[in-house]
Formats: sequence, structure tokens, C-alpha cells
Amino acid sequence: MSSSWTMNSPVHPFPPSSDPFIDLKLLTRRCPLDNGRSVFTNPKIGPNSQNWSDSYLQKLPLEIYHACLLDMDIESLTVMRRVSQFTRSAIDDLLQYKDLYTHAPQALRACLSTQVANHIPLRRLHNSLSSIECYYCKTAPEPRIEFGGYLSLFEGRRSCLFCLGNNPELRPVELTALLCSRLTGSIGTVNNMALLKTIPGTYSPTRISVTTRGILVRGPSRTTELSNKERGTPVDEDDHKWKTYHHPLMTPESECNLDPSIHYLLPDDTKQVAQRYMTALRFPYLTSDRSFADWGTLCLDCALSMAYHERYRKIVQEFRRRHHRDSPASLQTRNFFNRIRKKACSRYVSKIARKDAKLLTLKEGQKAGAGMRMSMANHQRKHVGETLSDEERRWRERHRPKRHHKR
Ligand SMILES: [Zn+2]
Ligand SMILES: [Zn+2]
Repeated sequence: MSSSWTMNSPVHPFPPSSDPFIDLKLLTRRCPLDNGRSVFTNPKIGPNSQNWSDSYLQKLPLEIYHACLLDMDIESLTVMRRVSQFTRSAIDDLLQYKDLYTHAPQALRACLSTQVANHIPLRRLHNSLSSIECYYCKTAPEPRIEFGGYLSLFEGRRSCLFCLGNNPELRPVELTALLCSRLTGSIGTVNNMALLKTIPGTYSPTRISVTTRGILVRGPSRTTELSNKERGTPVDEDDHKWKTYHHPLMTPESECNLDPSIHYLLPDDTKQVAQRYMTALRFPYLTSDRSFADWGTLCLDCALSMAYHERYRKIVQEFRRRHHRDSPASLQTRNFFNRIRKKACSRYVSKIARKDAKLLTLKEGQKAGAGMRMSMANHQRKHVGETLSDEERRWRERHRPKRHHKR
């Protein structure tokens, strides 16, 4: 740890660098979509043209034809758009396809560029666009409602920042590592897995540059039988006592050390951590009236509170080490930091999307309103009445950026 850490050093909770996940600008360059750009010289063949009824698909009633298209995957639809002008316009005119192309074209580009498009039906991707909550939080053993500002590409589901960085369900594993493990089974099983081809770029807050393409698979179901040694950790990482959450936008240097023991090994190395960032991208929520795409905003006060406590503990740790006293984190300390890191991951929606959040329920038959905690206006009221030490209050004011960089 650097001895330059003082409470007064300039700080921004999250350095306003570029996105640590898949770069949206890079996607535009890598995967140009042709929608609306192609000009045809030949006339469009339609239902009144000769030999039209020779095609089984085209002679279907239009509603059934559209229903079939909705259940097709993104890759097949992209290929089908090359078949004829009629097929292309039938796909382009689908409301769900149009919504995605208009409000989240980067999601289509990312699915195609990472080659997961053949596993993601249009209906599911559109459902993710028009669902406000994180799929993985909602389907967790202890379900909760959280705004998800990202798209996880493994299944094409909406995810929150916290799940992308911490949910074991979304932990990627390199295909080569999987094939070398004793769980390989037969090579044929690989055909049934959703393989994600990574895009060269810069990932994670530590700005790891990746120049070659690798293949990732979604890990949990394939790795549960790996021994702790194979996973690189001397303790059972599923044991909640050892669980340490991380904030995906914070560099490891900005976080205080929460190791439970002196020679504790982290379950994932830097490369494995960076792989999580290669599987997701920012993803807006399309409101129910389809008028507004909400990307959500992080709460600056939650971020400043986290940054204050991380720094405070780092200074205490440094002092202890200088006096030859190591300070492994107690369960209570880890729980405290896990809580504030998780809270600072939350994104909040604007007034427009708040109307939709208000209608959310966690389970059937429950009173609506479970999603109100994702409203920024509601959340900020909590900060008005919070009890802070004078030192923390002054620190937050001193380090509050003049113009909050919205991310
Ligand atoms: Zn989540
Ligand atoms: Zn807050």
C-alpha cells in the first residue's frame, strides 16, 4: 500500500475514465448495422408477385409470421434480413426489433460481435429492454428489486452493477481452462454451451488491455465441483463468512483490504476479474410508453460515503502495519463494507421511469410499489435525514466534485 494515502488527497469515487465494460463507441466501429442504410434497385417482391406462395414461411398469415420471427434468435434474424427485401422489412417493422434498434443498437451489436446472438431470442432481448429490474436480483434465492443498468450477454438478461461484479451466477470461465479441468466430459458438450467470444479492448477499472479474442463460458454450473485449490482459494468461497463484495467501478487500490486472514488468497486473479467486464455493456431501460430510454444514475452521496470509509480504514491499516500489527478484517467490518459497497452500486431512475417502478411487485399478489426504492428522488430524501459525523460531513463536502460526472 502506498504511503501517499491521506484523507485529504483529491478523490473522485469513480474516476471519470471510459466505461470499464464493453466500450459502446468501439462497438459502433466494429459492428456497423445496415438498418435504414441499404438502397435497393430492384423492386420489392410481395404477396401479389409470381411464385410468392412457393415459400412456406412467406405464405403464413402475417400475424403468425411475425410471431415466428419474435421467437427467432438475433443471429438468425440478422441472416434472414439478407434473404429478400420483404423479409428484411418484415423484421425491421417488428415493434420489438425497432425498439432495440432505435434505443439500444449497441445491444444488437454486442450480441453479434461476441457471437452469443444465436442463443438470444428477439423476444427475450426485448423483454430485457422493457424490464426495469435486474433479472439476477429478482431470481436470487432471496429476491429483491434493483434497477439494472447493464446487459449481461450470457443470456441476454438485464443485470445490475452489483451482480455483474459479485454474483457467482455471472462468473465467466475461459473455455480452455474448462477443457483442461477434470469436468470436461466430452468435447461434444461444448456445442450445447453458450460461448462468448471476447472483444479486444480495455476492461475493468484497472484498464487491462486485451488484444486477442478469447472464449468464455458462464461458469457456475461447470465449476461447482472444482476444488478450492483449483479455484485458487484456501477457503470455501461460498461460506458467507468469507464473502467480500467489490464495487465494479473502484480500482483495487481504492478499496481497503478486507482479507479475513493474513495469507488469504483472492478467489479470482486480475485476469479473471477483468473477464467479468468483457461479458456486459451499459443498457438503457425503455419506459412502458416507449418514449424514454433511462440509463439510471449512481448516487454521489452513497459513492462518497463508501470512498470516505474505504480511505479511513486504509489509513488505520497503514498505521497498524507501520507498527507491525496486521489487521485482518473482522466479520463485522466485512459486513459493514459489503453493505456500503453494495449500496453504492445501485443506480436510480428518473421521474419518467419512476411511474413504471411504482407498479413493480416482488411476487404475485403482493402490493405494488416494491420498485419505488429505485427512484432517485425517493432515495435522495434518505440522505437529507442521515446522521453523519462532523468529520465525514466535512470530508464529503470537500471532495464533492463540482460537476458530478454522471455514469
Ligand atoms: Zn442484480
Ligand atoms: Zn445514496
